[in-house]
Amino acid sequence: MRRSFMLLMALVLASCLSLPVLADEGMYPVTDLHGIDLRAKGLKLDVKDLYNPGGVSLIDAIVNIGGCTGSFVSPDGLILTNHHCAFGAVQAASTPQHDYVTHGFLANDRASEIRARGNTVRIIDSYRDVSADVLGALKEQMTPGERTRAITARTRAIVADAEAVQPGKRAEVAEMFAGRTYVLFVYTFLRDVRLVYVPPRGIGEFGGEEDNWMWPRHTGDFSFLRAYVAPDGSPAEYAPQNVPYHPKKFLRIQPRGVAEEDPVFVLGYPGRTFRHRTSHFLAYERDGRLPIVAELYENQIATMTRMGISDRGVALKYDARVKSLANSSKNYRGKLQGLHRLPLIVQKRDEEQRMQAFIEADPVMKARYGTMLKELGMVYAGLTDHALEDALFDNLRTSSAVLSLAVTVVEGNRELKKADLQRDAPYMEKNLGRTKDNVRLSLQNFHEPVDRALFADLLTRMRKLPAGTGGIVMDSVFRSIDQIGGMERWLDVMYGGATLRTPDAVFTLMEGPADVCETSADPFVRLARALAPVFAQRRADRQETDGTLTRLHADLVAVKMAFQKTSFIPDANSTMRLTVGRVRGYAPADATVYRPFTTLRGVVEKTTGVEPFTTPERVIALYRQGLFGRFVLPESKQLPVAMLYDLDTTGGNSGSPVMNAAGEVIGVNFDRTFEATINDYAWSEEYSRSIAVDIRYVLWVTEIVGGATHILRELGV
Ligand code: ASP
Repeated sequence: MRRSFMLLMALVLASCLSLPVLADEGMYPVTDLHGIDLRAKGLKLDVKDLYNPGGVSLIDAIVNIGGCTGSFVSPDGLILTNHHCAFGAVQAASTPQHDYVTHGFLANDRASEIRARGNTVRIIDSYRDVSADVLGALKEQMTPGERTRAITARTRAIVADAEAVQPGKRAEVAEMFAGRTYVLFVYTFLRDVRLVYVPPRGIGEFGGEEDNWMWPRHTGDFSFLRAYVAPDGSPAEYAPQNVPYHPKKFLRIQPRGVAEEDPVFVLGYPGRTFRHRTSHFLAYERDGRLPIVAELYENQIATMTRMGISDRGVALKYDARVKSLANSSKNYRGKLQGLHRLPLIVQKRDEEQRMQAFIEADPVMKARYGTMLKELGMVYAGLTDHALEDALFDNLRTSSAVLSLAVTVVEGNRELKKADLQRDAPYMEKNLGRTKDNVRLSLQNFHEPVDRALFADLLTRMRKLPAGTGGIVMDSVFRSIDQIGGMERWLDVMYGGATLRTPDAVFTLMEGPADVCETSADPFVRLARALAPVFAQRRADRQETDGTLTRLHADLVAVKMAFQKTSFIPDANSTMRLTVGRVRGYAPADATVYRPFTTLRGVVEKTTGVEPFTTPERVIALYRQGLFGRFVLPESKQLPVAMLYDLDTTGGNSGSPVMNAAGEVIGVNFDRTFEATINDYAWSEEYSRSIAVDIRYVLWVTEIVGGATHILRELGV
């Protein structure tokens, strides 16, 4: 009895106190910075230099830019981020006549800076723990689905209240530990972002997909953008009369760079990690989701690439989508390699067995948590069984742009009739402008033959699912394909009757009375209407699963804290994090050692003149003349290009400033190595390595190749 009491006390204490975070693994949330000894980690900074709610600190210079990270590097709102983060905007601004994707873009003055469509900027203003408020929405007798919906409704209300008292700001409730801790973040939200300098693709994306997620790397993956506000300083939509934003803080650039073993750190917005999940989740990833989605994407990429080969106009429309799918599928391949090579699942299973024994040793624990691991296993086994079906249905909403627009029309028409807070997020007043802009972009990037091919492929795959999986709607689609004489003829009828070909056509149906949608003869709109209850049911099922997982994961964290007698930091969740480490190479495989710096010599060695290994002639000429200026490496007399370090990063950290011990920018994070893709599941000093473009290469390309001396002047370099 006494032992049970002690254990329960340990559980309660562990969940209330924030115990010191583990030393090595480190994506520290701003909420957990207080316990970290930065000086012991080699930095010449204190926590308040990073985050100082009452004053000014480095965090004020870090932005979330469209899901990537960036940093202010001048008093006039100049932002340094990745080439690949600006890529969608560069593509949207390009035509075959003005092909900024291929040739790059440089604004010689402020007036020539062009709109970076689809980009917004967020800067943290404040945060507050709202766990009690969120969890207060839950009631004992709720079903898992009701719990999910209750949490969503409560977090939305908290966000709405926060935004009501601070008009113009954006609020967000982040789930730190599912079912346990929730933090409200309030952000300054800027909507006018412009392109300033983007290097040519032969620099910014040198090596393309072949080199993506690889080391040695020779990509100049950086770009400069600028945030604008209304003349009175308030955030505003794009307007020609807007003026540059003046951030509270901007980062200093260190043109001398860093050396091997120097301490470095990153502040940024890592997207998602899954370190606290169980072996069951990893098995689901390995045997279900990852291989299925990777193969699906690879097929779609092949289709889009093949159809764009002879027409640059078509290729341009699909460039960004190809790039994003390729980035994900290769990442999944890296993870699969890691899951097959490393004993992660076995190690987790061992730990879970010990945890189960720990639970069972105590009657109170056993009564409360005895079936927790088994239940987790059952949920993920179910998800594995449905992985193919889930992937195909998810893709049904996105693979064909016309069907996707029709779904938007049907959903929008329904949602816009509800009170703002009750609507699905894309249709809330504050998001409607973005949703409409996405519609415009989607139409701009539409090319019917490609769309048809993607749609046909998806339907063919769906048809191979076990009979009845798609329900009566899909069965009737397949029947009508047969009745009309095959897929091509069916597609002729579908696309022949498609009316959603202009933004106006989409918005008229979306914003019109219910009957305009109900009576529309457009075959895609009709299909989307028929699919609406199917999607609704799938969503309800997912909420049910999420609700169960939230409860089980909350229990898991509680048990793990008692079992390991420690507290730990939450998985990445797209909120601001700090990670500290060193510039360092590694040995990824038998007899292979990777040095931490690459140089321009490697760029020239790799250049074949064939995509993706083309290099602007000027770069080759400068290399031959050894014109590296003050950016040269002291010993080798080479120009550094990229570097490796053992920081703990993931997707979303793209574009993060890599800083030296004094907090000066010495690189721009843009990737991880192939072996490090697995660190979304488990970090290790052995294989976790991230990649940055060296600031010396950024400056050299900008000044010497791009001729943008005015940017270096603005940077104060
Ligand atoms: N290049 C990566 C991405 O954009 C960054 C990372 O995951 O480390 O997803």
